[in-house]
Amino acid sequence: MTSSNAPRRTGAVKQITSHSNPLIKEIKGLLTQRKHRTQAGLFVAEGLKLATDALEAGWDVHYLALGPDMRDNPVAQKAAATAKARGALILEVNTAILSAMTRKDNPQMVVGVYEQRISDLRNLDPHAQTVLVALDRVRDPGNLGTIIRTVDAVGASGVVLVGDCTDPFAVETVRATMGSLFHVPLYKATRQDLKDLIVRWPGTVAATHLKGSVDYRTPDYTEPTLLVMGNEQQGLEQDLADACKTLIRIPQVGQADSLNLAVATGISLYEIRRKHLAL
Ligand code: SAM
Repeated sequence: MTSSNAPRRTGAVKQITSHSNPLIKEIKGLLTQRKHRTQAGLFVAEGLKLATDALEAGWDVHYLALGPDMRDNPVAQKAAATAKARGALILEVNTAILSAMTRKDNPQMVVGVYEQRISDLRNLDPHAQTVLVALDRVRDPGNLGTIIRTVDAVGASGVVLVGDCTDPFAVETVRATMGSLFHVPLYKATRQDLKDLIVRWPGTVAATHLKGSVDYRTPDYTEPTLLVMGNEQQGLEQDLADACKTLIRIPQVGQADSLNLAVATGISLYEIRRKHLAL
């Protein structure tokens, strides 16, 4: 699992009133630059709900910036106390600084900086999975965030990022996950890693494909199931499609060439997990 390169901090509270404070610049850099996030092993998540999700799930928090509205908010104060006890630096800032930090006119009143968590696929135990979703070169942060949220909703067990993917820790992705990022394990993999996993996978392997000959509602999905999804523009790489035992297709009528990747993933996941999902 990746971990942060940033120095550990001992819990403290600091008031910041200047936009040019180096910590504010650092958080802005984490929000806007992938290179900066990767080097530091950190990322930014906005909002009190995400802060409480992250803390409840035991994620390491480095900074928690609180705006003026949060000083009397008991949930925010509890989150700040927990974060501080775990070594985070609590930053008390004004709305203008939060705006500058997040580049938004109406910023969230809580902004957290957390340690990234992503594991190597080669360390995954297939027997411990329900449904694992592998995404071949996913490029759109909104799609990735929506998929992570849906994986969480159906009780699937993780998301594999195969090849050159969009950054799961980009702020747009994090926003789209609505907190599910803190509950869904992420793995990174090369195409070869995924092909190796397919060979040793103990349950159903199904790839979605526009040329698939199997209606996605017909397989008897055996858990653990590995669901493989293609890239938004190019679909699934041919060698990956060849490696998968079953190519499933979601029927379409009308003129659309294909479904949006996140929609196709959601439809497939609900079918695969159907017998586990009841109101
Ligand atoms: N032009 C691409 C192609 O030829 O595959 C379209 C890719 S589509 C926008 C992105 C991914 O969503 C596909 O690779 C596949 O995994 C999934 N997908 C979209 N519509 C689908 C459908 N009707 N049946 C099966 N999978 C679908």
